[in-house]
Amino acid sequence: MTGVVVAIDGPAGSGKSSVSRAAAAALGFRYLDTGAAYRAIAWNGLETGADLADPDEVVRLVATTDLEQALDPGEHWVRVGDREVTVAIREPRVSAATTFVARTQEARDRLNAWFRELIAAAEPGVVVEGRDITTVVAPDAPVRILLTADPAARAQRRWKELTASGAEADADAVHAAIAERDARDSAMVEFLRAAPGVETLDSTALSFDETVEAVVRLARGAGVGPAAVPSAPAEQGEATS
Ligand code: C5P
Repeated sequence: MTGVVVAIDGPAGSGKSSVSRAAAAALGFRYLDTGAAYRAIAWNGLETGADLADPDEVVRLVATTDLEQALDPGEHWVRVGDREVTVAIREPRVSAATTFVARTQEARDRLNAWFRELIAAAEPGVVVEGRDITTVVAPDAPVRILLTADPAARAQRRWKELTASGAEADADAVHAAIAERDARDSAMVEFLRAAPGVETLDSTALSFDETVEAVVRLARGAGVGPAAVPSAPAEQGEATS
């Protein structure tokens, strides 16, 4: 039995992860962060000294990495073997290395097969976020949203997120890194423009809570989720990717 899918795509810094997670909590759904899987594979490659520039090595990594992630929006973690990597996979060096995984088609196919298994087992439904969820992973989802924000707003959010976590971050360098990742990622999958039938939600001028409410409203408009909108879930503050 396949759970109901709310598919959300968007670029780095659009607020995708935190918004999707909060929307999942509000809808009483599970939450699947597909970017975390790409990141965890890249992290494992860096950790084990794999040659990420070699597509065969990347496919081998995907096949052998013992990857697990919680689908509970209230308690999100990612593990590789017995290492918890939830925080480590957010480091800029991992973000940069993730591109090697993202551009390897066989790696994508294998990860997508795993995502579809997780989606099929998720009850009563699941909010799935990434770059190609609305188009490749779950193109038949009853709710498909492209969450965007203008590049300056996205860079600003990512910079705040990094500095809040204690990392040293230069605003211009963060902006440049986001622009570079957008360019590389969009060469592989189209996520900067909505596919036909996909709703665009621009969060540039919206607060975090307003963005979550907009997602929940779109889901309810499609007959998905509980009848009444619960108040915004635990996670507050600035949207992060
Ligand atoms: O969403 P997040 O920024 O965590 O994703 C990290 C990277 O994983 C992206 O920059 C992209 O290269 C890759 N990705 C992807 N397809 C997805 C999710 C993530 O290619 N569905």
